[in-house]
Amino acid sequence: MISILLNSIYTATCISCDLLFEFSWQNCFCSSCIDSIKKENNLIYCRSCGNGVYNCQRCLNKRYFKDIQVFCSYKGVVKDLIYEYKLNGKKRLSKILAEKIKDDFTRFIKEKNIDMVAYVPVHKSVEKERGFNHLREILNNIIPSYMIFDGIKKIKNTKLQTQLTKKEREKNLKDAFTLDKLPKAENIVIFDDVLTTGSTIMEIYKTLRKAKYNGNIYGYIITKS
Ligand SMILES: [Zn+2]
Ligand SMILES: [Zn+2]
Repeated sequence: MISILLNSIYTATCISCDLLFEFSWQNCFCSSCIDSIKKENNLIYCRSCGNGVYNCQRCLNKRYFKDIQVFCSYKGVVKDLIYEYKLNGKKRLSKILAEKIKDDFTRFIKEKNIDMVAYVPVHKSVEKERGFNHLREILNNIIPSYMIFDGIKKIKNTKLQTQLTKKEREKNLKDAFTLDKLPKAENIVIFDDVLTTGSTIMEIYKTLRKAKYNGNIYGYIITKS
């Protein structure tokens, strides 16, 4: 009854496909667009550093991350969803992203015996503007708070990475992060939303190792661009 009433007042067009759809709690994306977001198993990237290649030369003789998992490609509906969520500040969309990856992510946590989940922080000025950390918000919907590690801080307000080359990204991110405290975990996973060249998660990897964290470091990223 309430939904019939709401539908007569509110209708929305889906941000991704432009079709009219019935009122929903998030009122941004239609259900068929949301249903189209699925786990992909054949994405190409280096499981040790996140670089977008097979047989990564950098990792021939050294293993960095123990394993990196990516849920799906950064395109179509999921790309629109991340944009609306992160850059247009639609906090309620965190639930959709959480629901999508929940099964896969919790399976990963169990399989790898993950004790703690860290997320890529943003600079405090960005977080203040946004009002929340978009990654922590997703995690809040998936795992208990005692498993979330908040000890990584971003101390450098870096340029937007999208227009930069791999070399420039690395330079931009150098010494961008610091650790408040060491994670009390044998196996930690770094959680992020978009994997491009792997520069961000590698910088966090280095920050942890520089602080003498000796546990296993994994990566879990929602999308691969
Ligand atoms: Zn749609
Ligand atoms: Zn590599």
